[in-house]
Amino acid sequence: MTGIDVIGLTAERAMGLLRAGECTAEELAQAYLDRIAVVDPEVHAYLHVDPERTLAAARAQDAAGGDALSGVPIAYKDLLSTKDVPTTAGSRILEGFIPIQDADVVARGNEAGLVSLGKTNLDEFAMGSSTEHSAYGPTHNPWDLTRVPGGSSGGSAAVVAAGCAPWSLGTDTGGSIRQPAAFCGLVGLMPTYGTVSRFGVIAFACSLEQVGPMTLTVRDAALLHQVIAADSPNDATCTGPRDAIELPSAGRFDGLRFGVPWAELEEGVEPGIRARFDESLAIAKNLGAEIVDVELPYSRHGLAAYYVIAPAEASANLSRFDGVRYGLRVDGPDIRSMYEATRDAGFGPEVKRRIMIGTYALSAGYHDAYYVQAQRVRTLIRQDFDNAFAGVDAILLPTAPTTAFPIGARLDDPLAMYANDIFTLPVNLAGIPALSLPNGLSDGLPSSLQIIGPAYSENLLLRLGAAFEAEHQFDFVPAAMRGGL
Ligand code: GLN
Repeated sequence: MTGIDVIGLTAERAMGLLRAGECTAEELAQAYLDRIAVVDPEVHAYLHVDPERTLAAARAQDAAGGDALSGVPIAYKDLLSTKDVPTTAGSRILEGFIPIQDADVVARGNEAGLVSLGKTNLDEFAMGSSTEHSAYGPTHNPWDLTRVPGGSSGGSAAVVAAGCAPWSLGTDTGGSIRQPAAFCGLVGLMPTYGTVSRFGVIAFACSLEQVGPMTLTVRDAALLHQVIAADSPNDATCTGPRDAIELPSAGRFDGLRFGVPWAELEEGVEPGIRARFDESLAIAKNLGAEIVDVELPYSRHGLAAYYVIAPAEASANLSRFDGVRYGLRVDGPDIRSMYEATRDAGFGPEVKRRIMIGTYALSAGYHDAYYVQAQRVRTLIRQDFDNAFAGVDAILLPTAPTTAFPIGARLDDPLAMYANDIFTLPVNLAGIPALSLPNGLSDGLPSSLQIIGPAYSENLLLRLGAAFEAEHQFDFVPAAMRGGL
C-alpha cells in the first residue's frame, strides 16, 4: 500500500502531486492498482487490467522526467483499440482480439504521458444504456451497487466514481458519455462531431459518435479534451477543434441567454430530477443569465430517427465480423454456415436486434420509408437547434430523465431502455457538443444537468460548467466508496 488516497483524486490534483515530487508515477499507478484490486471485484468496471504493463509504463514516465500530465493514470473504454492489449468491445466475437495499433485518442494519451490502468466495460459494441448488454456481465454503480452505472460507457464512469481511475475516456453515439456520467455523478463531455479522431474506435454508428472525457471536475474534462481533440490524417471526418481548448474558471453569466425547451420536460421526468433542474435555473438567474423558452419541435422524433439511423449504420459496420478477419470463428461445413454460426455465437441479443432493424431499414423496399425518412427528420432536428441558437447561447436540459435504475429493471423492455436517451440523442443527430454535470442528488442518487451548445462551443460549455460546478459544490465521491467498500 502506497499511502496515496486516490478516492476523489482529480487528475489535476494528481498532476500536482507528480509535479511537486510528492509521489512518483509508479507510486500513483500502484495506489490505483491497489484500489482496483479491492473494489473492482464488486463494481466490475474493468474488463482488462495488466498491473505489470501499467507499472512499466509508469516507470517509463518517471525515467523520462516528463512534465504536465506525464504519469497521470487513465482508463480507456474497451471500444478503443489498444496496441498489444486485448480489446473486446464488450463482445464475445472479439474475445482474445489484440489490435496491432492504438486508436488515435490512445496514441495522443500516450504522447501526453498518460498511463493506462486498463480497459473498461461497456454494452456490447456500445449498444445500450446500462452496460447490461456487455457479454462479460454488468458493471455496478458505485453509488448503489444494485443499480446500473448507465451506458454504454458505464465502466468508464464507474471506475472514476469508485476511485479506480482519476478520469477516463468514453464514446458517445446517442448519450453514452453523458448518461453514465449523469448516473455516476461525473462530468462528461460530448464534443462537436469531427473534433476528435475516430480512428481505432470500433465503429457502431460513424455519423453520430465521438470520443470524450469522463471526469470528476469540469477542469479535468478540459484538460483531457486538450489531449484528445486534434486533427488526424487517419480520419477524414476529423478536423480537430476550431479554437484551442481553454482551462475554464467559474464566472458570472451576465449577458448570456439560456433556452429551456419546456415541452421536452412535460412527460417522463422523475420529480427529483425536475426539482434539481429547476434549482439550476435559479442558480443561472442568480449568476446573471436570462432564461428564455425555446422550441425544439422535431426533437420528440429524435428517438425514432436515431433508432433507425444508428442500427442502419451498425448493420453495415458489423458486417466485418465474419469469422475470417477478427476474433471468434465457429467452423461449419461451408463458408456460409461458418459466417452464420460465428455471428450467431459471437453477437448478443441486443446487437442481433440492431443488425436486424438496420438491415430491414436499409433493404430495397423499405429504404425510402425508413432510412431516408429518418435522415430527413435528422435534418429537421439540426434546423431546430440552429433556430434555437439564433436566440440563445446554450440550451439547458437534464441529461437523463431518471436517476440510475436497478440492474434488470429495463432489460426485458428495449423501448424503456431506449427512452432513457431522450435528452441526449438529438445532440448526436445534430452533431453539436453537450456537457453533462452532476446536479445534486435525488433520493441519494446523482441527478444531472446538460448544457447543449452550438457546434464548436466547447470553451463556452466548459466555462458555464465550471460556474455551475462552483455553485453546486457537488460531493462527487459516493459515501459507500469512502469506507472502501
Ligand atoms: N443508448 C444508446 C444506444 O443504445 C446510445 C449508445 C451510445 O451512445 N453508444 O444506442
